[in-house]
Amino acid sequence: MSISAGGREIPTRGLALTQDQQDRISRTLNRVPAAHLRSLQYLSFRDRDVRVRDAAGAYTGETREYAGGSTSSLDRGWQAMDPAARRFMIMLDIDSFDPAQRAINARVGGLHYTLLHELGHLVDWSYSAFDWIRRNDPEGFAAIAQRDHSGITHGAQERFADVYADLIFYSEGQRPTNRAMQAVLASPAFSSVPGFRARMP
Ligand SMILES: [Zn+2]
Repeated sequence: MSISAGGREIPTRGLALTQDQQDRISRTLNRVPAAHLRSLQYLSFRDRDVRVRDAAGAYTGETREYAGGSTSSLDRGWQAMDPAARRFMIMLDIDSFDPAQRAINARVGGLHYTLLHELGHLVDWSYSAFDWIRRNDPEGFAAIAQRDHSGITHGAQERFADVYADLIFYSEGQRPTNRAMQAVLASPAFSSVPGFRARMP
């Protein structure tokens, strides 16, 4: 199976999607600038469990459904590769479509926020965008790094991915004009996408 987006067919692997899930992924991919999909080699859908930890951080032996995603490079040492040659894949957990697990991914006619978050990582790594912001816009970097993140993993890169997801997920009217978004829009990830830049809040 594949999904048409960004002017090409993006292959999918793993679990088969329902028509509704497929439409949601298609709507989401087609909302981002085509250039941002260039490095995406394929999407994979899995049904993963996560091992439960107790308050002290030790594994309890129990597992629960996981409803997240992950982004990986297909090449070792990709950081040293020319940005145009970098290749990534995104894995999404099938439970991420479940409204009981991730209501934000299941709005009627809506987008898949978790996929946008993963695309945020892909865009960051494809353009070295966050590193560019760190070197060229320290104030913007601080604004992104301070942003709250509700996911299970932490770190400034997670916050960049959330800012990216918010930029695409929310309409201009819903989108707060904030320093973090301005920093991402001014980075190489968007400065090469004039159409999107014109929509800057
Ligand atoms: Zn993340």
